[in-house]
Amino acid sequence: MAITRNTKNVPYYLLGAGAFDQLESLVDERRRAATGPALFFVDHYFQNKPLAARVPAIAGDRVFFVNTSAEPTVEVVDAFASTAKAFLNGAQPCCVTGIGGGAVLDMAKAVANLLTNPGLAEEYQGWELVKHPAPYKIGVPTLSGTGAECSRTCVLTNMRRKLKLGMNSDFTVYDQLLLDPELTRSVPRDQYFYTGLDTFMHCVESIRGSYRNVIVDSLSRTAIAMSEEIFLGDKDMMDEENLEKMMVASYIGGMAAGNVGIIHPVSAGLSIVLHMPHGIANCYALSVLGEFYPEEHAQFTEMMARQKVSLPKGICKNLTDEQLDGLYQGSIVHEKPLINALGEDFKKILTREKVLSLFANM
Ligand code: ZN
Repeated sequence: MAITRNTKNVPYYLLGAGAFDQLESLVDERRRAATGPALFFVDHYFQNKPLAARVPAIAGDRVFFVNTSAEPTVEVVDAFASTAKAFLNGAQPCCVTGIGGGAVLDMAKAVANLLTNPGLAEEYQGWELVKHPAPYKIGVPTLSGTGAECSRTCVLTNMRRKLKLGMNSDFTVYDQLLLDPELTRSVPRDQYFYTGLDTFMHCVESIRGSYRNVIVDSLSRTAIAMSEEIFLGDKDMMDEENLEKMMVASYIGGMAAGNVGIIHPVSAGLSIVLHMPHGIANCYALSVLGEFYPEEHAQFTEMMARQKVSLPKGICKNLTDEQLDGLYQGSIVHEKPLINALGEDFKKILTREKVLSLFANM
């Protein structure tokens, strides 16, 4: 087997119900280690909620609330970066903390990269383009499943280039995670399911692909097994034990998540054209990809039934030709994962007609 890429993981994590209370001491440690204020990026869902009052910001710090009703775009990253730079006035923060779901965790990572690297977000969409280390980052997920807490990317939608692509870099990785399953207790059930399934999807795509290594395979198998326990087991998927299991599955699955397959490209098409959130878009994608992932499709169907989640049909019924073209282009542009799944000749399998028939079935 080939030698793996030199792989970085998140160096520190804290896990357990109630761990959020330790955020203050983690930030205080940074205040002692570096000058500059602390920046916090918090999901707007928590604005005026008890969690916002527990964010350990002091005078001179800045809290940014991130609107998560849409996926992070390069324009929003650029806007936050320029506001943050104006606020910092030439200084660097002692740390940047992201508190939220995947969108917020990715937003904090992307903005942090732009604090030490000149230019616009889209200049760093790709692999190994970030040249300077970002400020110290602390990640606090409040939703489990995306793996954003431990991935080396931050997925950004670029409408102009019609693609979803992150800043794949070791500098994007968080320096510290704080994993408190209690924070996910108030997530609506549907959202918990869709987002949780993202872990299952990443790992299924990874293990069914051709870019493989023993470590990633082992992590994927573990996260898939945990997903089965959570979504097909006897206990409720949001039972206390499962909240923690889901948070850990997301973390383990996130470490395996570099190489996706067909589900994520098709999902990206939906997000680009219909602005559909990532988790539910993945579910729609797998719902029509049974011929490529037969076993997993069957498992997924059973999970939906068990958790009483449904996907209303006909979402691509009344689209314009331009939108249909966007769905095709927004999927097929993701060559790396499609080659991972189907080989260099993937366009012979995923013809325009074939891709459009997948969307028509949703
Ligand atoms: Zn994903």
